[in-house]
Amino acid sequence: MEARHGIVGCDYRDHGGLVNRKVAKLYYDLHTHTVWSDGDLEPASLVADASAAGVRVLALTDHDTMAGIDEAARAAHVHGIQFIPGVELSVTWAGGVTVHVVGLGVDGANAQLRQALENLREARLKRGRAMVEALSAAGLGGAQSVLERPGIVSRVHVADWLVACGHAPDRARAFKRFLVRGAPGHVAVQWPDIGVAVDWIRGAGGCPVLAHPSRYRLSGGRLEQLVRAFVEAGGLALEVVTAGLDAGEIGRLARLARRHALHASVGSDFHKALPWRLRPGGLPELPGDCRPVWERWPAIRLQGAD
Ligand code: AMP
Ligand code: MN
Ligand code: MN
Ligand code: MN
Repeated sequence: MEARHGIVGCDYRDHGGLVNRKVAKLYYDLHTHTVWSDGDLEPASLVADASAAGVRVLALTDHDTMAGIDEAARAAHVHGIQFIPGVELSVTWAGGVTVHVVGLGVDGANAQLRQALENLREARLKRGRAMVEALSAAGLGGAQSVLERPGIVSRVHVADWLVACGHAPDRARAFKRFLVRGAPGHVAVQWPDIGVAVDWIRGAGGCPVLAHPSRYRLSGGRLEQLVRAFVEAGGLALEVVTAGLDAGEIGRLARLARRHALHASVGSDFHKALPWRLRPGGLPELPGDCRPVWERWPAIRLQGAD
């Protein structure tokens, strides 16, 4: 149990004579969501669940918003776990592929980032209005309520409305029938370029991580191109361990990270409790030859070793 929940075998403290195996039992989850984007839990509940699951270093990385960060940080303090403020930005690569870049350790008070997030909130609201209209034109009226939520407006909220109204049996089929490219409720959106998103993250003192690289369904060559573009833009880490990957895929991503001299991150991408994923965390270990992204946070490492 301990080995499954710990990240063992990483010599990530071999710099400056700081080797301390105790820290290897820290359990990291550096990619999670709350109701402020498309997750099911309030920030305090997410933190409580993560803590109960054995997470000791948690990042909240809602899509295009940091509205849940303060509540999560307070809850992390109460539970005695380390908290990393984060965000997950949508970007458009090569003219049409949507890719996600997680920013870890970003300063939510940074003026440039705040303005960017405000603009993204508006862009999502605008797309939401267009989706509501497109669905109405297709005979599915009444989705306006999704525009009134306090958090960002995501396709997930439109999907849930479609399910609640009986227009689709579940979220996955709501996406497939109505919300993906070519479907009646789809509205094209141009997200920022990778370089712009990476600049916002680095400008706010954060570490840009290319999220869930296997989920873009790119060929090996295209993924290599994407990673190269990310590195050229100033990206610093690759999410090597995330939910749903087998050991072979994790190994492949670990080699990809090494080839491009990127750090490796670990995140469940937790959105909601599912029968097969009840809590944040529960991830396989990072391969021992990776350079964990938390090498970049000496304060966390030292506190974790206590
Ligand atoms: P958005 O950023 O508003 O376009 O919404 C994208 C989000 O929808 C992703 O972050 C996923 O959480 C979720 N999502 C994307 N595709 C699907 C799908 N086929 N089924 C269920 N959820 C999906
Ligand atoms: Mn999501
Ligand atoms: Mn994502
Ligand atoms: Mn995510």
